[in-house]
Amino acid sequence: MTPPIPVTGLTRAELTDLVTGWGEKPFRARQLWSWLHVKLARDWAAMSDLARPFRARLMASCAPLRPAIRAHQVSADGTEKWLLGLADGQVIETVYIPEDARGTLCVSSQAGCSLNCPFCHTGRQGFARNLTSAEIVEQVLLARGELLLRARRVTNVVLMGMGEPLYNYDAVARAVHILMDDAGLAIGSRKITLSTAGVVPRLDAVGRELGVNLAISLHAAREEVRNRLVPLNRKYGLGDLRAALLNYPLKSGRRVTWEYVLLDGVNDRLDDARAFGAYLQGIPSKINLIPFNPWPGTAFRPSSPEVILRFQEALHRQGFVTVIRDSRGADIAAACGQLKGQLPGARPRSAGAEAPASGDSTP
Ligand code: SAH
Repeated sequence: MTPPIPVTGLTRAELTDLVTGWGEKPFRARQLWSWLHVKLARDWAAMSDLARPFRARLMASCAPLRPAIRAHQVSADGTEKWLLGLADGQVIETVYIPEDARGTLCVSSQAGCSLNCPFCHTGRQGFARNLTSAEIVEQVLLARGELLLRARRVTNVVLMGMGEPLYNYDAVARAVHILMDDAGLAIGSRKITLSTAGVVPRLDAVGRELGVNLAISLHAAREEVRNRLVPLNRKYGLGDLRAALLNYPLKSGRRVTWEYVLLDGVNDRLDDARAFGAYLQGIPSKINLIPFNPWPGTAFRPSSPEVILRFQEALHRQGFVTVIRDSRGADIAAACGQLKGQLPGARPRSAGAEAPASGDSTP
């Protein structure tokens, strides 16, 4: 038996090949594409203008069009989180962050994460597997469809949920092309941001092949601190990362976003801010300071609001656009670094998985 076709993860050209390969006319592919990516159909029965035999063939050969919604939570601040069950039982999370003029969807690229950054809750659960392009696209289709019913919009997409998108480049790239397709969801390249801990050999492709906004999770501009906070730094160090960004094919008028989570006593001194500013010299940059979002069992603590403001001030003085990201959805564990693929109220999988790594962060 051939495996079910993950039809939502096909580009328009691939979908056309599939459909015409079945002997259907190309306009059938256009109809199907529009059902999937414009009308946001969740099942085959809705596709009323497709001929019955064609629909029957789709139903028999294709995978379901949506993951299962295992839980949906809404935060006091309007942030929403879906816990989604995939066909093989893995669970991932997708977060919607409404703002005045826009709505941002934070999507996952992997089930779990292999990077093991000690301050991030997702990393504590380990890595399960890469998501397929269909599983990435379906997070957007699902959220758009659900939110549309309540007249809420998804204008922006950030690849900032669970996982390291550049360790799943092929599926992420295909998904991004599908999201950007003018005849589909039509989310423009400047409305999509890919966040990476710094997989240096892949950065150039993000600029050249995808052209979306790039965010780098720096968190420290000093080698020994970054080695600890972002273990990937032992593979791709600060020097390599900076060289790649100096050569990065940035579109005109755009900047690289730098993410920096402020951890009390770890990376929040004025010295750290100076090292950070010096590190960015020559790279068109904007800075997102992220107040640390604590999670059960972490030994890290957030920097105080005064320290955060002082850190921001120091970067302003060095000439950098620096914003403090407001933490959204913390009451439903939907904030940065809190995603863990768990049902509300569920207990941690094992006590061991909650312990900070190697005593580094023990107070
Ligand atoms: N792997 C990618 C994308 C996922 S993380 C990356 O590293 O960029 C998204 C952002 O949330 C990263 O900047 C990450 O470092 C940050 N983050 C992780 N845990 C956090 C926490 N507990 N509080 C605040 N930000 C956190």
